[in-house]
Amino acid sequence: MQILRTDVAIIGAGTAGLSAYRAAKAEGASALIIEGGAYGTTCARVGCMPSKLLIAAAEAALADPVVAQAVEVLAVAAAAASAAA
Ligand SMILES: Cc1cc2nc3c(=O)[nH]c(=O)nc-3n(C[C@H](O)[C@H](O)[C@H](O)COP(=O)(O)OP(=O)(O)OC[C@H]3O[C@@H](n4cnc5c(N)ncnc54)[C@H](O)[C@@H]3O)c2cc1C
Repeated sequence: MQILRTDVAIIGAGTAGLSAYRAAKAEGASALIIEGGAYGTTCARVGCMPSKLLIAAAEAALADPVVAQAVEVLAVAAAAASAAA
């Protein structure tokens, strides 16, 4: 087993972890990040950024009256199906 020595050990390379890493380095400390999951923050991978893209795409689609009417029909059908269940 390799032993690493550091001033600051940060668990999680998310938004907070990356910010903490930068802050520690700016203070002249040695720092490392321990990440146990997928690379990339929740915000960039599956959170803020992709969700805003989906919302923008949905808003653009709803600007088309034909799409808006189809969505309304689907919503009514889904509500009816839900009430019947
Ligand atoms: C769909 C969605 C939309 C969002 N939209 C917005 C928005 O518009 N605006 C906004 O401000 N926020 C938004 N958020 C919230 C934002 O994504 C989070 O607030 C932010 O990512 C939290 O950052 P964090 O560093 O605390 O956690 P994360 O970015 O989730 O990072 C935590 C990291 O720690 C790792 N980890 C956890 N436990 C361990 C362990 N034991 N050992 C090693 N690694 C570990 C994880 O793998 C992960 O990589 C949204 C979130 C979602 C899901």
